[in-house]
Amino acid sequence: MKVIDHINQAKGTLISFEILPPLKGKNINSIYDHLDPLMEFKPSFINVTYHRSEQTFKKKADGTFERVEIRKRPGTVAICAAIMNHYRIDAVPHLICGGFNKRETEDALIDLNFLGIDNVLVLRGDAAKNETFFEAEPGGHRYAIDLLRQVSNLNNGIYLEEDIRDGFRTKYCIGVAGYPEKHFEAPNLETDLEFLKKKVDAGADYIVTQMFFDNAKYFQFVESCRQTGINVPIIPGMKPITNKKQLNVIPRTFHVDIPTDLSHEILKCKNDEDVERVGTEWLVAQSKELKKAGVPVLHYYTLGKAKIIHDTVMQVM
Ligand code: FAD
Repeated sequence: MKVIDHINQAKGTLISFEILPPLKGKNINSIYDHLDPLMEFKPSFINVTYHRSEQTFKKKADGTFERVEIRKRPGTVAICAAIMNHYRIDAVPHLICGGFNKRETEDALIDLNFLGIDNVLVLRGDAAKNETFFEAEPGGHRYAIDLLRQVSNLNNGIYLEEDIRDGFRTKYCIGVAGYPEKHFEAPNLETDLEFLKKKVDAGADYIVTQMFFDNAKYFQFVESCRQTGINVPIIPGMKPITNKKQLNVIPRTFHVDIPTDLSHEILKCKNDEDVERVGTEWLVAQSKELKKAGVPVLHYYTLGKAKIIHDTVMQVM
């Protein structure tokens, strides 16, 4: 079932989770071990992130270096199929521009369709580790909107090979990313919102936000979106803080602020256990307020923190 249908048919706020594929070397049971405790909340869908390969240099016996490509977390498509099969819950694979040309993207979309997956979250992806700015793959897409148009084309039976007539029309429900605190490359929030509106006008069914720790930023973002003419559901994405290092890592990695009240409380903590308690309390309070405001879905970035998410949702639902 499509994410947008889940939302339209819901009588209240839904729950969804986002997971990462396990590191190469682990098996599918690590996903089930992670998700099993969360199943009691009957999530409407589960997102699975995509991680492009990284270039690294490996020292050879003769002292020279060889450039090698490694993918630390392969398996997004297969994990989605496994989740749908194992739990009978809809899975949403993240599909990115980075590292793919259009033909590879089309093949991936055909595979997903054959597997019975009707949902995708389309994203640009970040710059590769060896690049300063994002660079499109030769024959690939520069922005998420270009990838979205390719998915939309397939929904209209338009394939890259022009001689395919009456091509099968896929039925992808398309999600896109939005940034309550602005995408870090955007010159300002207004411009970022104009590009977000273009993604919606091009066919995005809903938006999932970057994580935020201050609900006021989400509410303000929703209001600005509505003023800009963006009328699709806006799903808040949330994550718990579980250690002191994240006070610096999260702003650097995700370009979001940690509110002063929260950072002060975390700085007072004596150990990670204390931080987890504070982080969970904050997440519970955030979730309760968002639920009360009638958000369509509470979407949790579980990132290996299934227990904290479990304890949070337990107090919220
Ligand atoms: P875009 O919508 O293409 O926007 C990127 C930037 O370009 C923005 O600054 C925007 O304002 C600007 N822009 C857009 N269109 C134009 C245009 N036509 N001309 C000029 N500027 C333009 N990354 C992964 O690698 N894997 C994942 O699984 C993943 N999951 C994510 C899930 C969520 C919910 C979110 C919020 C992010 C996720 N990311 C993931 C990170 C994401 O790929 C990065 O934030 C990336 O830098 C931007 O992606 P986007 O889809 O928002 O890009």
